[in-house]
Amino acid sequence: FAAVGQTGAEEQLIHFDDIGGQDVAKGELREALEFIKNVESIRSLGIRPLKGILLNGPPGTGKTLLAKAAAQFTGSAFLAASGSEFVEMYVGVGAQRVRQLFKQARNIAKKHGKSSAVVFIDEIEVLGGKRGQNAGHLEYDQTLNELLVQMDGLSADDDVRILVIGATNRMDILDQALLRPGRFDRRVKVDLPDKKGRQRILELHTRNKPLAEDVSLEDVASDTFGFSGAHLESVTNEAAILAFRESSSTITAEHLKNAVEKVIMGEKLDRIPGP
Ligand code: ATP
Repeated sequence: FAAVGQTGAEEQLIHFDDIGGQDVAKGELREALEFIKNVESIRSLGIRPLKGILLNGPPGTGKTLLAKAAAQFTGSAFLAASGSEFVEMYVGVGAQRVRQLFKQARNIAKKHGKSSAVVFIDEIEVLGGKRGQNAGHLEYDQTLNELLVQMDGLSADDDVRILVIGATNRMDILDQALLRPGRFDRRVKVDLPDKKGRQRILELHTRNKPLAEDVSLEDVASDTFGFSGAHLESVTNEAAILAFRESSSTITAEHLKNAVEKVIMGEKLDRIPGP
């Protein structure tokens, strides 16, 4: 079952400041994470430990980055997996992978001398869709049941405390059992960035790129309504490639404009079904 581990990223240092926009999501997430950081006071007040946070929003908006920043903020080890890695033909294999994921998170934390771990599960709807909806597919049900068992078993007294962060764009198809108190009872909406957020993301991704004097990232932000953070990262990369092709030592406003067009075209082409 190496697959889970292979996608797991250890010790990735992403800070909340490395994430552009998403001020509301960052604020809510930070507030929730105080519970993890102040485990002693939480315990003395008899507050139920926070076990799960669900990040809900469109692709490429920074959910993975937020989960990594959460791990950094709380001094936790980080392990990532995707819902699709748990879907198997054979009954029981998915459930075994879930057990292995939690075990591995504990091991990684111990290896790095940390007392907590963030387990990030992207596309959690793939393993946490409503039970019984996959044509009565027993495998899906068992995998989800195992996740519920693992989350119910988490305790503030564990030698490695685990916080599960799930990401999805399909809250509507999640099994209600996942949303019950004591499981993913914190939900954070991660939206497409607004203009200010887009400008900040563009600034972050051009930090190490030579911009020409005529570049206004505010103008690029105005021209990129509806773009996700991932799209904006592509824009900065495409612009740098265009500059390279022209043997230009700087990235100009024109390069950025063409890169925006290119990303828009790419999106359109992606949506046209193949032959
Ligand atoms: P998916 O749902 O597709 O997994 P996601 O919401 O987890 O997407 P990320 O993987 O966090 O998105 O983002 C992909 C890439 O897009 C990041 O590595 C980063 O380069 C860029 N990016 C996305 N959002 C932001 C942001 N808010 N600030 C800076 N960069 C961003």
